[in-house]
Amino acid sequence: MASPTDGLGRPLGVLRLSLTARCNLACPYCLPDGQEPPGLLSLEQRVVVVQAAVALGAHSLRLTGGEPLLHPQLEHLIEAVQPLRAQGLREIALTSNGTLLNASRARALREAGLDRITLSLDGADATSVARMAGLSDPRAGARTLEAVLAAIGHARDAGFDPAAGALKLNAVIQRGRNDDQLLPLAELCRRQGLELRLIEYMDVGNRNGWSPTDVVSASAMAERISSRWPLEPLERDLHSTARRWRYRDGSGGIAVVASVSQPFCGDCNRLRVTADGVAYTCLFAAPSSGLDLKPWLQPSINAVGLEQALTQLWHSRRDRYSEDRQASAAGHEHAEMAYLGG
Ligand code: SAM
Ligand code: SF4
Repeated sequence: MASPTDGLGRPLGVLRLSLTARCNLACPYCLPDGQEPPGLLSLEQRVVVVQAAVALGAHSLRLTGGEPLLHPQLEHLIEAVQPLRAQGLREIALTSNGTLLNASRARALREAGLDRITLSLDGADATSVARMAGLSDPRAGARTLEAVLAAIGHARDAGFDPAAGALKLNAVIQRGRNDDQLLPLAELCRRQGLELRLIEYMDVGNRNGWSPTDVVSASAMAERISSRWPLEPLERDLHSTARRWRYRDGSGGIAVVASVSQPFCGDCNRLRVTADGVAYTCLFAAPSSGLDLKPWLQPSINAVGLEQALTQLWHSRRDRYSEDRQASAAGHEHAEMAYLGG
C-alpha cells in the first residue's frame, strides 16, 4: 500500500505508542490517571499496530506513556518489532522519567534493540525535582534526582551514547516553578555531555490548569542559557519537534521544543496510539476524536482492515491545533498527556 499523506499533505513518519497510562510520579503539569483504561492491548496486538504504521510510512517508533518502564513486557515488545526494520523501521526510542532504569534494565533494553533513550528531569536540586515531580517531601526529591542521575550512567554504560544522540534529557520549564533551573540543568547536561531538550509548558490535558502566562518561551530559554554559555542556532530538521542550538565553546548543545510560541504543525508527521488502542492524530486532540483500533485487533486480528482504517484516518487528518491555538482553544477538551503518550 502506498504511503498516504494527510489532508494538509503531511506524510506519516513517527508512531508514538503509549504502553501504559499510569506513572510512578505525578508531575503537576501532567497528572496521570491512577489506573489503566480498560482494554489494554496485548503485546501481539501492539506489534500489529506498529506493523501497520510502518506499512503506512512510519520509520520511527517512540515508546512512551505514562511511565513505559512500568510495563513488564517492554523489552519483549522491542524484540518483537525488530523484524520491521527490514520493512522501513529505522529507529526505536524510549521516553522515560528514568527512576526505574537500573543497570540490568538498561542492558536489557539495549540488547532487545532499543536505539535511543530520552530521560526527563525538570530540576537539578532536590527541592525543584520534588516540586516538579509532585512529591511532597524534598527527601523524595533527592532520591528521585539520585535515581535519574544513576539512570544516566546506566544508560551510558549500556551503550546509549550521548555523543551519537542516543541519550538526551528532557525538561519542561514552567514560569515561577522551575525557570530558575535553566542554568543548573544546562550545567548538569554540559557536564554529562547530554543534549538538554527544553520543552515549553503545553496546554495538553484539562487537569493542569495551564495558562499562557506560565509558559517560558523557547527563545527566552535559549537566551537565558546563551547569556551564560553563548549559543548559536542550527537549522531545524524537517519534521523535528525541536530547534537545536550549539554552544560556541564546542561543549555540545541544547534543543528547544517551542510548540506554543513557534508551532510546528506544518510538517507534523506523528501518529499516537494509546495503551488501550485508540489512535490520535494530534497531541492536543479532543478525547472523542480518537479512533478505537480494537475492532481490527479482536477477537481476531484483521491486519488489512487495520491498515485501511489507519490510511483513512491519516487521509482525513487536518489537525493544526497549535498553530490555531487562539481560535480553537475556547471550549476545547483535551485528552490527557499521560494517556495520549506525550
Ligand atoms: N513518563 C515519561 C517521562 O516523563 O519522560 C514519558 C511520558 S511523559 C508524558 C513524556 C514527556 O512529556 C516528558 O518529557 C514530560 O516532561 C512531557 N510533558 C508532560 N506534560 C507536559 C506538558 N503539559 N507540557 C510540556 N511537556 C509535558
Ligand atoms: Fe509521569 Fe512522565 Fe507525566 Fe511526569 S511527565 S507524571 S513522569 S508520565
